[in-house]
Amino acid sequence: MQNKKAIIAIDGHSSCGKSTVAKDLAKELGYVYIDTGAMYRSVTLFAMQQGIISDGSINENELKARLGEIHITFKYEPEEKKNETFLNGVCVEDAIRGLEVSNNVSAISAIGFVRQKLVELQQEMGNEGGIVMDGRDIGTVVFPGAELKLFMTASPEIRAQRRYDELNAKGEEVDMESILQNVKQRDHIDSTRKESPLIQAEDAVVLDNSNLNKAEQLEWILNILKERNLA
Ligand code: C5P
Repeated sequence: MQNKKAIIAIDGHSSCGKSTVAKDLAKELGYVYIDTGAMYRSVTLFAMQQGIISDGSINENELKARLGEIHITFKYEPEEKKNETFLNGVCVEDAIRGLEVSNNVSAISAIGFVRQKLVELQQEMGNEGGIVMDGRDIGTVVFPGAELKLFMTASPEIRAQRRYDELNAKGEEVDMESILQNVKQRDHIDSTRKESPLIQAEDAVVLDNSNLNKAEQLEWILNILKERNLA
C-alpha cells in the first residue's frame, strides 16, 4: 500500500536516461512527472529566438529584464501519450531538444537569476508531493527534503550513443563525435559551475544504468521505495 505522496528527486549527468526512468516511475506510481531540463531548455530557446544569445554570447542584462516574459507550462498529450513543454503557449517540445539548444543550455543554466526563477517555479509545482522531478539540483537545492533521491549516471560513450539514436530517430542529421563532445562539455560545465553545480546529494542512492534496461531500472527503484514504505 502506498503510504505517502512522496517527492522523488532524480539528478545526474546529461543523457543518462533520467527522463525515461522518471516517466516510467511517475506512471507506475500515478505521480506527476516534471522535466526541469525542459525548463532550462525553454529559457535557452527564448534567448535564441529573441537574439539575446548569439554565437554563444549572452546579453545577461537583457535576459534579466525580459525574464518575466517567459512562461513555461507542461501539458499531457493523451494521443501521443507524452508530456509536452509549452513556451508562452507554443509547443516547443521538438525545438528544445535540438543540438543548437543543447549547445547553449549549459551557459544559460549557469546564470544565477535564471536558476532562481526556475527553482521557485519547480518548488511551487512540486510542494504537494506526488511528483517525480528530474534535473541536476533537485535533491540538493530544489527539494533537499525529498523522500527519495536518485543520482543517475552512465559512461559518456553510452550516453552519447543514446542521444545519437534519439536524434537520428527524429531525422536530425548528427554525427557521433559532436554528440560525444556535447555530452562531455555539458558534464564539465554542469559540474564546475558556481551556481548549484551537479553534485551527488549525500543521501542520494546511485544508479549506474550503463548495463541495465528500462524494466530492470524501474524494478530496482520500486524495491527501494517498498523498503521505505513509499510504494
Ligand atoms: O536534462 P537535460 O539534459 O534536458 O538538461 C539540459 C541542461 O539544463 C543541462 O545540461 C543543464 O545544464 C541544465 N539543467 C540544470 N538544472 C536542472 C536541469 C537541467 O542546470 N535542474
